[in-house]
Amino acid sequence: MFYEGKIYRPPSEAKSIILQITVGCQHNACTFCTMYKDKSFRIKSRAEINDIINTAHAQDSDAERIFLADGDAIAVDSVLLIEILDQLYEKFPQLKRVGIYGGPKDILAKSPKELAELKAHGLTMVYLGVESGNEEILTSVCKGVSPEQMIAAGQKLKESGLALSCTVILGLGGNILSQEHALDTARVISAIDPHYLGALTLMVEQSTPLAKAIKRGSFQLLTPLESLTELRTLIQHLNVTHCVFRSNHASNYLPLRATLPDEQADLLVTLDNVIGSQSLERLRPEYWRGL
Ligand code: SF4
Repeated sequence: MFYEGKIYRPPSEAKSIILQITVGCQHNACTFCTMYKDKSFRIKSRAEINDIINTAHAQDSDAERIFLADGDAIAVDSVLLIEILDQLYEKFPQLKRVGIYGGPKDILAKSPKELAELKAHGLTMVYLGVESGNEEILTSVCKGVSPEQMIAAGQKLKESGLALSCTVILGLGGNILSQEHALDTARVISAIDPHYLGALTLMVEQSTPLAKAIKRGSFQLLTPLESLTELRTLIQHLNVTHCVFRSNHASNYLPLRATLPDEQADLLVTLDNVIGSQSLERLRPEYWRGL
C-alpha cells in the first residue's frame, strides 16, 4: 500500500488495514505534536480513494477491520464518507469495524444527523484526543477548543451511537498545573463518559515549541512518581458509567488496565502501593533511568 509520509494509528487498530483517505491533520497546531508537521492537510480525490480501496482489496479481501487515516479523516464531507463506507462494506464482505480519528472542531462541524448516518453506514469507532480538561493547558498547547467544546464534541459522538475512545496526556500541564490538569481532565472525561480512555505520558520531541519551553525553564516535566500521583488524582475523580481504561502505551511508566468504575478502587490501591513505596523499581526502567 502506498502511503504519503509516516502513518499513525491507535494501538487498538494494529490489526486493521490503514486506508489513507486524507493526508495530515487539518488543525496541525498542537505544540506537543509532531506527527503531521511535514504534511499539508488535504482530502484525497475520489479517484485516489478508489485506487486505495482497490489496492487494499487486492491485498486482503477478507479484511475485518479498517482504519481511515490520517489524523483527522472525520473532516471528510459526510456524503463522501458515507459513499466510502458503503463501498468498503460492499468490497470487504467480512468487514466488521471501521475506525477513524476525529478532531473536536470537525466533530462539532457535523450535525447529530450526519453522525448518526455515519454510524448507520458502518463507522464504528472514533478516536478523540482530549489531552486535557484544563482551559489554560488547552490554550497553551493550541488545541483549538475549550473544555466545554471538547465535552460537546465527545457527547455528540456518544449520542450518535458511535463507540468513542478518548486519550489524555499525563504531564501536559507540567508540575505547576499538575493538580488542575488531573481534576479538570477528570471533569471533562466524566462529562463525556467515553467507552474507552487511554492515558499517555507526555513525551517531548526536540523540534516542538514545548521542548523550547523546557529549555527556557518555563515548563517542567513531571518525575515518574509525580506522573503517577497525577494519574491517581485523575482516576479518583473520574465518574464514568462503563469505560475500559488503559495506560499501557510505551510512554507510560506503569502499565495499567482496568474497567471503570468496577475496578476503580483496585486501580487506586495499585497506584497507592507504587507511589507509597517511593521506589522506581516497578516502573519501566527505559524511561526513568534517563531522567
Ligand atoms: S489535533 Fe491531533 S494530530 Fe492534529 S496537531 Fe493536534 S494532536 Fe496532532
